[in-house]
Amino acid sequence: MNPFNYQRAASPEEAVHALSARGTKFLGGGTNLVDLMKYNVEHPSTLVDVTHLDFSQITTSGDATSIGACVRNSDLANHPIIRSHYPLLSQALLSGASPQLRNMATTGGNLMQRTRCYYFMDTAFSECNKRTPGSGCAAMKGFNRIHAILGASSGSSRSAECIATNPSDMNVALAALNATIHAQGPKGKRTIPIADFHRLPGNTPHLDTNLKPDELIIAVELPAPKFAKNSWYLKVRDRQSYAFALVSVAAGLELEGGTIKSAGLALGGVAHKPWRSVEAERSLIGATTGPESFKKAADLALAGAIPYEHNAFKIELAKQSIVRALTLAAQGAQA
Ligand SMILES: Cc1cc2nc3c(=O)[nH]c(=O)nc-3n(C[C@H](O)[C@H](O)[C@H](O)COP(=O)(O)OP(=O)(O)OC[C@H]3O[C@@H](n4cnc5c(N)ncnc54)[C@H](O)[C@@H]3O)c2cc1C
Ligand code: SF4
Repeated sequence: MNPFNYQRAASPEEAVHALSARGTKFLGGGTNLVDLMKYNVEHPSTLVDVTHLDFSQITTSGDATSIGACVRNSDLANHPIIRSHYPLLSQALLSGASPQLRNMATTGGNLMQRTRCYYFMDTAFSECNKRTPGSGCAAMKGFNRIHAILGASSGSSRSAECIATNPSDMNVALAALNATIHAQGPKGKRTIPIADFHRLPGNTPHLDTNLKPDELIIAVELPAPKFAKNSWYLKVRDRQSYAFALVSVAAGLELEGGTIKSAGLALGGVAHKPWRSVEAERSLIGATTGPESFKKAADLALAGAIPYEHNAFKIELAKQSIVRALTLAAQGAQA
């Protein structure tokens, strides 16, 4: 690992100001950033520790809930408000990493964690548009079992610059719950809907998010809970624990009798960003719960999927996972 300076920010303004210096990065729990520094993928000259800022609270105001950016993943998953009002988020968080990692990982860091594409993580591979823009993509011709099937190619062409996936479980639940990210930069504060926070690769795959390089995440806001009684996070992975998702589904239903009043549906492990399917959600509104409406939603969510050599299995896996997650949500299953 390269040598680096460490400093603690005493205020958000100080943290943002520090970031204007070249080579500076924020440090949350360090569980992703420090790993990447050891692999020589990231080499910041200064780490600004933001975990001592006053962003470790979970509060409610009106119907909305605010989660400070420095709240640890385990505290968030186990908080009484989250467990009772947003069990989908709790379940997603508890499916991720290990208890030790969740004790360190922060909300801001989880939103910003980088892809687990093997070719990105291993600098022995020189072709990686995410690490070195313009160098190519080793995954497209390589072993691409874990890679994206949605949002990477334009139309039917294979002109994708990157087929990496966003690895976070929390982000998938936040997408289905329609969260909003609060950020602070040198010019003040702004909000970014979760749907606009993470990016598709396009021709700038080195950018994972629309957070500006000089902005600090300060909080995540959840709207009034709609899916507390009927939600499910389904994670399909190679091992039962301590593994990233091959495919995951965050499903939430608001029901009136057996009729669906509103729905939240997002997928993980299939795209460069958490893949929320608004078309699938719309198809569920007004429908009765059951295999017919759930299969229709699954087909809509996977419309346009383009597989690579080793990951075609993800299309059927994702469809079946959607039907199962919606079925469990409709049955009133919770974390
Ligand atoms: C072995 C292993 C298994 C894992 N399994 C899973 C899993 O199954 N599911 C899953 O979802 N995750 C998994 N993770 C990933 C883990 O959840 C992330 O590493 C963690 O959430 C990142 O949070 P952090 O606070 O440690 O971020 P850090 O590593 O500190 O930072 C990550 C990035 O976020 C930036 N950052 C941090 N805070 C802020 C802020 N407030 N504003 C702006 N930028 C900020 C940093 O500069 C850095 O670029 C796993 C990790 C490991 C090592
Ligand atoms: S998929 Fe993206 S991260 Fe992986 S090698 Fe290709 S460009 Fe790099």
